[in-house]
Order: sequence, then structure tokens, then C-alpha cells
Amino acid sequence: MAKSWSTPPGEALRVVPGFDLATADLAATPGWEHSESAADKRLRKDGEHLGEAQERLFAHGRTGGKRSVLLVLQGMDTAGKGGIVRHVLGLVDPQGVELHSFGVPTEKERSQPFLQRIREALPDGGRIGVFDRSHYEDVLVVRVNEVVPREVWEPRFDEINAFEREVTESGTVIVKVALLVSAAEQKARLRERLERPDKYWKYNPGDVDERVKWTRYQEAYQAVFDRTSTDVAPWYAVPADNKWFARLAVGRLLRDAVEGLHLGWPAPDFDVEAEMARLDAQPF
Ligand code: ATP
Repeated sequence: MAKSWSTPPGEALRVVPGFDLATADLAATPGWEHSESAADKRLRKDGEHLGEAQERLFAHGRTGGKRSVLLVLQGMDTAGKGGIVRHVLGLVDPQGVELHSFGVPTEKERSQPFLQRIREALPDGGRIGVFDRSHYEDVLVVRVNEVVPREVWEPRFDEINAFEREVTESGTVIVKVALLVSAAEQKARLRERLERPDKYWKYNPGDVDERVKWTRYQEAYQAVFDRTSTDVAPWYAVPADNKWFARLAVGRLLRDAVEGLHLGWPAPDFDVEAEMARLDAQPF
């Protein structure tokens, strides 16, 4: 039997009032008291359950159902968002996954309300949507780099909460994951990108410029946690210095979200007996 959590991540990692990013241990494995190899086995097992639940979700969507799950991934550069997509979403049928990455807005996007491009990317019924970065960039990078003044980004927290409530009420379960990497670990990961020719493609000199603003990013993330970890869409603060732990945790969060929809298999919209008789009546 695969080893299990002492406290599931839905509880152990949920951001509640009083959460303090500055003192969080980002190499810790809250709720998990076993080894990395035990975690690999657990993730594979969770992946099987997630896969089964996702197939029911997909079937639900194909028969007109409106429920969906949205995984929002945020994190500093090198935090491991790509690894989560590969190792956790890689466990389910790609047909059921809608992945969107949000980079610097285009000129057209900049002329629209900041939530517009997000609304357009919401998952269809039956899907697992994944946002690699999200509307939170509009209160993170935008705030830190003073792209717009405080009077513009400050009201966005309330707007985001109202938006997420609306999305939830329309049938989408939102799972917000902040992958939290320490400054020391980020440095080591950036260094590795400079040491290995197979990693050069991942290196962006701009990442070092953003790194200088570390403290301001930490403040901006803290404000995100304080203002937007709501009952309808809580944040999960995932310590990510150990990549294996982050993947294990997100795998379980996603499994719980999809299984939590409690979807059965869709009922047939045809007469099963009559169809069977018709099939059997054919000579070949
Ligand atoms: P990543 O760093 O996520 O691996 P990347 O380096 O491949 O991605 P892109 O996906 O092209 O780069 O863009 C990501 C960049 O876009 C990040 O630096 C992010 O802060 C920035 N960005 C995302 N949303 C916004 C926004 N609303 N306003 C300004 N910048 C944004």
C-alpha cells in the first residue's frame, strides 16, 4: 500500500488568516512524513484516482454538464510551474485538459479590462483548466514594477474576489496554488540553467532583474494571500524547494477537487435494450 498523508494538503497547506510568508519554511513538507520515494508511489496512486475521476468529468462535459475544475498556478521564476504541468497534469488524459499561459499582455489585451483575457480562457464544462500565471499577475508583477498606480491595482483584489465567486457559482471549482521557492533555492536553479547547455533555453536574463525585487514580490504575494484567500477560492501555499513535494501536494489537491465533484457516469439518452436488440439483429 502506498504511504499516505498525516494531514491532507487541503488542510495542511490552506492559507488561513495569520499565514506569514516571511517565516514560512519553504523546504518543509507539511502533512507528509515519509520519504521522497514513498511520495513518488503516492503520486502515481493519486494519479490513477485522478485519472478515473477526470474521465467521469470529461463524460459529464460531453453530455452537456457544466462542472469544471480550474487550477491556478502562481510562483516566482523557477518555482516549478512547468514541472507541475508535466508531472501532475501529465497523469491525466490530455484531451480533458485546457492549458493557458499568461505572459505580458498584448496591446489589445492592455486596452481591455484585466479580467477579459482570463474570462475568455475559463475551462469548458467537463475540463480541467490550468492557468500558468493568471489574473494574479495584475496585482503582482504589475504592482512591483509600478505598471499602473496603486489606485488602479488596489481595487483589483475585490474585483478578483467577486469574479472568482461568480466563476465558482457557475460550476467551476477553483484550486489556487502558490509554489513558494526560497531565494537561495531560486539562485541555485538559475545557476543550474547557466551551467547546463540543455538548460540554457530556460534561462532569461530578465529573471535576474526581477530577482533584485525579491522583498517587494514577497510583500505582493503576502497581500494576495491576505486579500484573496476566500472560502470559495482559498489559496494553497505549497513549499516548493523540494520539487517532489510540490508535485505530490498538487496531485492530491487536484485529485480531491475532481473527486469532490462526486460525478457519476452519465445516464444514456437512448434505450439500451432496444439498441442492443438492433445491434444483435445485424447479420455481421
Ligand atoms: P515563465 O516565466 O512563466 O516560465 P516565460 O519566461 O516563458 O514564462 P512568458 O510566458 O512569455 O515568459 O511571460 C511571462 C512573463 O509575463 C512573466 O514575467 C510575467 O510576470 C509577465 N506577465 C504575465 N501577466 C502579466 C501582466 N498582466 N502584466 C504584466 N506582465 C505580465
